[in-house]
Amino acid sequence: MDRREAMLRELNLYPQWKLRVRSAQVVQEEPAPISIAAEAIAPTAIDKKTPFSSSPSAVGGRSDIGDLGWTELKQQVRDCTACKLRAGCTQTVFGVGDENADWLFVGEGPGADEDALGEPFVGQAGKLLDNMLMSIKLKRGNNVYIANIVKCRPPGNRNPEADEVATCLPYLQRQIELIQPKMIVALGKVASNALLGKDATLASLRGKLHEYRGIPLIVTYHPAYLLRSPNEKAKAWQDLCMAVRTRHGEA
Ligand code: SF4
Repeated sequence: MDRREAMLRELNLYPQWKLRVRSAQVVQEEPAPISIAAEAIAPTAIDKKTPFSSSPSAVGGRSDIGDLGWTELKQQVRDCTACKLRAGCTQTVFGVGDENADWLFVGEGPGADEDALGEPFVGQAGKLLDNMLMSIKLKRGNNVYIANIVKCRPPGNRNPEADEVATCLPYLQRQIELIQPKMIVALGKVASNALLGKDATLASLRGKLHEYRGIPLIVTYHPAYLLRSPNEKAKAWQDLCMAVRTRHGEA
């Protein structure tokens, strides 16, 4: 069993997906066509947001963040006590990866393992995310950046509350400005709604091409949810394939 087959088995996707040659250069595992309406991925279906701006006031209204570079931003997050989550966590979890990445994966917030180690998506959910990345020939730290909506662990792994998201989101917005990714994958309902400014179900957001300030955004399941609901892994694979097709200009 080669590494790729082992990874696809981990995702419960092998041997469901057939190897298909798309061109002389591109060989890619791809599922059957995703059953979404054509208009759902047409440019007119993109959810338009406010045009990207680099003015300081554009970052969540926090003028203290909008012009920070990486070093200052990391320091500010490290020292942040702006919401009640900081009192209950061990440390802030800034994000990790290639600061010039084309791909940005955004989760909800740190869990216990992340809180202990200071890095997002470690532990079992992180292992699954790494396998999801590998399934589309990506790797943590190599053209990939991983971050969360909130930088401090919510107690008991509860969802972050609206005020906590609103307070912390400007940090991620500044990270996105600095990274300038070409594709954002939102992992789970909390991340998706925070980035899209919506209050919608994950089911209603999946299978559509969204946009965050001019950057294509695809919604899929959070790896922690996939660990609890492994039957949904095939849908996550569909989402990842849609993201790859969009990134390659094929959607
Ligand atoms: Fe600051 Fe974000 Fe932590 Fe709240 S969750 S204390 S806003 S870093």
